[in-house]
Amino acid sequence: MYKIMTAGPSQVRENVRMARALETTNPDIDVDFVEYYKSLCDKLQAMVNSTGTAYILGGEGILGLEAACASLTEPSDRVLVLDNGVFGHGFADFVTMYGGQPVFFESDYKKAISADELRAFLEKDSDFKYATVVHCDTPSGMLNPIDEICPVLAEYGILTVVDSVAGMFGEPVDVDGSQIDILCGGSQKCMSAPPGLTMVWVSDKAMEAMLARKTPIRSFYANLLTFRTYYEDKWFPYTMPISDINGLGVAIDNILADPDIYDRHAKIASATRQAVTEAGLTMYADGAYSNTVTAIEVPEGTTDKAILKVLKEKYGIMISSSFDVFAGKLIRIGHMGESANAADTRQTLAALDDAFAMEGISLKCSLAAAFDKAL
Ligand SMILES: *Cc1c(COP(=O)(O)O)cnc(C)c1O
Repeated sequence: MYKIMTAGPSQVRENVRMARALETTNPDIDVDFVEYYKSLCDKLQAMVNSTGTAYILGGEGILGLEAACASLTEPSDRVLVLDNGVFGHGFADFVTMYGGQPVFFESDYKKAISADELRAFLEKDSDFKYATVVHCDTPSGMLNPIDEICPVLAEYGILTVVDSVAGMFGEPVDVDGSQIDILCGGSQKCMSAPPGLTMVWVSDKAMEAMLARKTPIRSFYANLLTFRTYYEDKWFPYTMPISDINGLGVAIDNILADPDIYDRHAKIASATRQAVTEAGLTMYADGAYSNTVTAIEVPEGTTDKAILKVLKEKYGIMISSSFDVFAGKLIRIGHMGESANAADTRQTLAALDDAFAMEGISLKCSLAAAFDKAL
């Protein structure tokens, strides 16, 4: 087995794996399961300070993004797509697919979106039904200040859809405080459950917008309204993946029992960034770093593939390269949930020391030693 230090999926604790192997009831007809599902949704709401409604959907993180766009978009709705990264840009595809008109607010991929620049843009044009923004744009390790961005959009009466699949539980999220209308999360990043589930938190305002549609939602599986009365009706729109949900339940309790979770992510990510910089390597982003993933530029004279190969084959450690516009340009270390621990990060950096040496790249100091010093 490899040590998983990728930008998702992350490591899964044994108690989560074991919960997925438990004997199961029939989740379609056993009301105890409906109660259990509801209890998890209630915990999820408290964890991100949401007074709306939370749902757990059977499907990977992408399903949450698509469900948000499918459920809100009506033909010819204008949607503002905040674009400073690969996932940020990608929201436009879902908007288009469901008949909406995406309008980009483009911003430097190396910098966080500025609430002031957004406000200046909205002064001229604010006729949007909703806006999409990514919290941590994983391919570049970019962190956007959703707590500053979403309130500005709300001021202009624009609903907000936030992708925090790779941010939440590694970076704090305050749904009500930041006026987020639909928050999307996934099981396989800082939740440290295996891939397969997506969570969505829906504000009352977003729910009203869906109910006020003039046209039907053009999807069944991605239609958030199909869940609206599940609890009263004791009826899910499709059979819930009960083993995945049993695992998620334990992953949620692991997080609730871990009050230092945000501090730990911050400390490990910050020490990693310091080591990278002291060693003479270059962080991709310009100051807007997510504590859930560190993206490092591939130096001249080697390739992402060569570095990843040494880590995997010689050390049994998997880290990530990147993709889309960053293909071949970056290597990424995940600090997500269970993977965000000092011992594994140190081992990864020691392996990187060797990989760079094998590739003939001389660093200014040892990454592992600099990490220890910074920690
Ligand atoms: C991982 C991730 C997703 C979900 O993507 P999957 O392909 O389902 O893993 C969505 N948004 C962001 C920013 C992510 O990092």
